[in-house]
Amino acid sequence: MSTESTPLSAEAPYFPAIPGEHPYIHFFGTRGSIPVSGPRFVRHGGNTSCVAIGVGENYFVIDAGSGIRDLGLQLLKDGPRKIHLFITHTHWDHIQGFPFFAPLFIPGYQVVIYGASGFGKDLKSIFRGQLDRDYFPVQFEDMRAKIDFQILETESVVLNDFKIEWESTHHPAATLGFKVTWKGRTMGYVSDNEFLPGFHGAPQWLDESSKIFAPHAKLIRFLRDVDLLVHEAQYTNQEYMSKVGWGHSSMSNACLLAKLTRAKRWIIPHHDPMHDDATLASKLNLTREVLSTLDHSIEVTHAFDDMIAYF
Ligand SMILES: [Zn+2]
Ligand SMILES: [Zn+2]
Repeated sequence: MSTESTPLSAEAPYFPAIPGEHPYIHFFGTRGSIPVSGPRFVRHGGNTSCVAIGVGENYFVIDAGSGIRDLGLQLLKDGPRKIHLFITHTHWDHIQGFPFFAPLFIPGYQVVIYGASGFGKDLKSIFRGQLDRDYFPVQFEDMRAKIDFQILETESVVLNDFKIEWESTHHPAATLGFKVTWKGRTMGYVSDNEFLPGFHGAPQWLDESSKIFAPHAKLIRFLRDVDLLVHEAQYTNQEYMSKVGWGHSSMSNACLLAKLTRAKRWIIPHHDPMHDDATLASKLNLTREVLSTLDHSIEVTHAFDDMIAYF
């Protein structure tokens, strides 16, 4: 609390305030794999991956899942501007909202799309292919905004006071996790990552020096000590038994990663389309239990569509 907001006596009116500004992450889509809808999904929502990160009027976007449609409609209120869109990878649930992103159709908007170089096709041809006449009525060339592509190489990107860095994750495509730093505040965003592929045991029995962590050492270092970790935990441990290699973590393996990064808080996005609100509520309860077993009871919660969290 700032000293100005602290009254001198118990009788004086008290108006608590957090000193200074804090950046936010606004979740527009928190579902993995495919959108869902219906009464069983009302609380968490059903749009696929899209978040906006910013302070005040300065913000940028990560991923173009179906949630980006809502974001686009909100953006129209402010008039033409330059929009920076980072893509973790080009699986459907991270790009399927792109053709419905309204600013793309309006002259004056400028959209810069940042992504990894991929394993074969370049980023532009993947986005262009998605708009092929076989899949969508409007072609890339018909979009009226100025669209540019930028491949993320080894250096970071700086936008206003935000520094954006990236690291590869363990996922069946060229996939990036991002770290965002703003005036010393940090957030790690890793939507798709299979931590400890094939490991089904109890994580409390693993020694921190175990060789099993070697393939993940760079990502753990990258995320170390972030103020807020946004990382998936898509499968229950039972589901993970039959989903090794699908690119997503079991709940308990994700808990161990949260501990190893020493993140201060954890928000879990990218919910499985099979998990309705009741399933997610009990899964979160179990996640807290596993963190406690690991002696790492940090604040953890599930992301939901339209959630805003500060870091
Ligand atoms: Zn995904
Ligand atoms: Zn994916």
